[in-house]
Amino acid sequence: MQTRRSLLMTGAAVAGATLIRPYAAMAESHGEMGGDMFKTQSGEITIHPVSHASFVMETPSGVIYNDPVGGAALYDDYPAPDLIVLTHHHGDHFDPETLQALWNDKVEMIANPTVFEQLPEEMKARTQSVSNGDSITAMGLPIRAIPAYNTTEDRLQYHPQGRDNGYVLSIDGLSVYVAGDTEDIPEMRALTDIDIAFVPFNLPYTMNEEQAASAVTEFAPKVVYPYHYRDSDPELFAKLVADGGSGSEVRIGSFYGTST
Ligand code: ZN
Ligand code: ZN
Repeated sequence: MQTRRSLLMTGAAVAGATLIRPYAAMAESHGEMGGDMFKTQSGEITIHPVSHASFVMETPSGVIYNDPVGGAALYDDYPAPDLIVLTHHHGDHFDPETLQALWNDKVEMIANPTVFEQLPEEMKARTQSVSNGDSITAMGLPIRAIPAYNTTEDRLQYHPQGRDNGYVLSIDGLSVYVAGDTEDIPEMRALTDIDIAFVPFNLPYTMNEEQAASAVTEFAPKVVYPYHYRDSDPELFAKLVADGGSGSEVRIGSFYGTST
């Protein structure tokens, strides 16, 4: 497997053989970068928080980038993407320049219709426009678009109902929910059999720690990653989830340069 850095360097006029790191070395470096591994039916998923809403998942089916923004250099040490998942058009989720730099001749993308309309033709050709409630297949994976929206009156302008997506991805026997920018909507609370969930909380754009923990207590994912929680309190969220009694394990990843 090649990292993005090794792909970029392959074309350089440098003796080639040592440029592509062996898998073992790569796995080691990922460990140092805080990757978490989860066993699937035929392999494993490794999760790498990158920043805020951006993360990388290595899976038996390929490498998934969620809402990659922040410049391509942030992703140099990860394998190149096979699937890019975009939830909505806000700048902390969608950055055309980062996408252009990450783009390769095999990548597929899924996006909500607002993002799709903003893509250049080259990207549209390999992107599926996905609306709330749609079930599609991308990179061979069944994926369902879950609504993502605000419900509190003075936040409705951020994410109006019907526009933005969360996703449930079925990956080799594991169900992974990426909530997107949303409050604790009924569609989230009604989810079942989620193995790994990514749930946001930050005001005023999404929800507070209490809302997020209350929803998690109801849909009870096996593991939940707080993400998109800048200026918020993941420890409070973890305590509230523990108090809720769902048994969900809270993992606090290094989305903001720290990890526990
Ligand atoms: Zn947003
Ligand atoms: Zn956001």
